[in-house]
Amino acid sequence: MTLTKSTSLNEVLSLGSGCKRCGHCCSYGSGALLDEDIPRIAAFLKITEKELKEKYLEDIEKFNTKRLRPKIIRQKDRPHGKCVFLKTDNMCSIHTVKPAECRIGNCGDYGEKLSIWFTLNYFVDPDDPESVRQWTAYLQTHPTIYGGNITDLVPNRERLRKMLNYSELRRK
Ligand code: SF4
Ligand code: SF4
Repeated sequence: MTLTKSTSLNEVLSLGSGCKRCGHCCSYGSGALLDEDIPRIAAFLKITEKELKEKYLEDIEKFNTKRLRPKIIRQKDRPHGKCVFLKTDNMCSIHTVKPAECRIGNCGDYGEKLSIWFTLNYFVDPDDPESVRQWTAYLQTHPTIYGGNITDLVPNRERLRKMLNYSELRRK
């Protein structure tokens, strides 16, 4: 199967379903939530959404878009650390309701492409000039998937030119 930007979330979840729950990626970070993950995780933990955000979640910003992810427990002077939901036996304590990016997974045959798909669909905002500029810079040194080139995201050349020349300001 060819993974493209417009592949549906359900198809992507089936591609990424081969997670072996080894806990490796969870030891160095955590996956971003979609909005619908918040009530699901809060209900599972039997706490309010406010408590969930305060106790267990933190902001992550990529390509000028902010989302939430489980807090990272960082060692002193280290940028990375383990996810707050990773148990001592390396299992996820919220496995059945874990964040969308965790459910998609990031290893296996489609690993890198799944990460790109998530970034394209949930962090890169074609209506936000700053997000477009950051994605353009990123593409100088990174691959993308079909539908993820900058001219796919902003097909109008004049609009793209203005965005890249900073003549369009951030709209958020
Ligand atoms: S996504 Fe991969 S690295 Fe992460 S827990 Fe699953 S099998 Fe391990
Ligand atoms: S929520 Fe679970 S699957 Fe996601 S990073 Fe944390 S421990 Fe890993």
